[in-house]
Amino acid sequence: MIGALPTAASLYERVRRVIPPIEWPAFADDIDAILALKRERNAVILAHNYQTPEIFHCVADIVGDSLALARKAMTVEADVIVVAGVHFMAETAKLLNPGKTVLIPDLAAGCSLADSITAEDVRLMRQRYPGVPVITYVNTSAAVKAESDICCTSGNALAVVKSLNAPRVIMLPDEYLARNIAAQTKVEIIAWKGRCEVHERFTAADIRELRGAHPGVTVLAHPECPPEVVAKADFAGSTAAMSDYVGRHKPARVVLMTECSMSDNVAVEHPDVDFVRPCNLCPHMKRITLRNIRSAIEENRHIVTIDPRVAERARWAVERMLFV
Ligand code: SF4
Repeated sequence: MIGALPTAASLYERVRRVIPPIEWPAFADDIDAILALKRERNAVILAHNYQTPEIFHCVADIVGDSLALARKAMTVEADVIVVAGVHFMAETAKLLNPGKTVLIPDLAAGCSLADSITAEDVRLMRQRYPGVPVITYVNTSAAVKAESDICCTSGNALAVVKSLNAPRVIMLPDEYLARNIAAQTKVEIIAWKGRCEVHERFTAADIRELRGAHPGVTVLAHPECPPEVVAKADFAGSTAAMSDYVGRHKPARVVLMTECSMSDNVAVEHPDVDFVRPCNLCPHMKRITLRNIRSAIEENRHIVTIDPRVAERARWAVERMLFV
């Protein structure tokens, strides 16, 4: 039996702490429409941790970091998958669900890391370092994944490096992630020069100032941050690992050195923790809104397609990662 749909009014209780009442009427109509459309079209919404709370907590069916979304995308039974995230995430969902319709609400939702490298660049790296395995961060196009031996996320990058049992690996394209992982292993890591435009802006001076202004604050950093930021943090990990840390340690006051919406989304689950919020916004993630999610399902756009010859090789690199 199909149960009654939740309503925007009932969902507001979940996000009351992070969305002021005055802003809520701007969201309610789209939320009710999206909930009805999902049922009508047998659609699910995958939302990354950097999506805003009205998306993350009110219309998403599956939430998490890139690794969790990739894993859970393999188990989706719906006909339509809407990705509330950036383009490489939608491509990954399509790779793992080739028979399903995958939609991205805004085709221009990109990523500075994905844009930093091409398939040709990877082929040139292979020529330069013959026989050295290539690990590609999931924040890349399907064409780049197709040139790789295996993918990784910030949550499993160290495990992926160890799984290869090689003295040297190429890790593309995030220079800082590669350097942060290199600090934890004896394996030599050859990096690329890509950067996340959100995380590269955090500095060690930011942490000094935060600790001065908020004595006792616990600082958690994403491994896409510069190594000097990670070195000064109390803990570094993927967005999922940061969220777990808050749940396990319950710090009285915490700052997450990552994208802005992450703190809002974690704060909803932990009303007893005080979140200090200096944050950097990802303009690509913020292209996704309730309004364009609604249009995506109503108008069946934008459909994500991948050249089958590329998809086969890229899928292999992603699936190999999921079994590490
Ligand atoms: S936060 Fe950084 S890595 Fe994530 S989508 Fe935005 S630019 Fe890309």
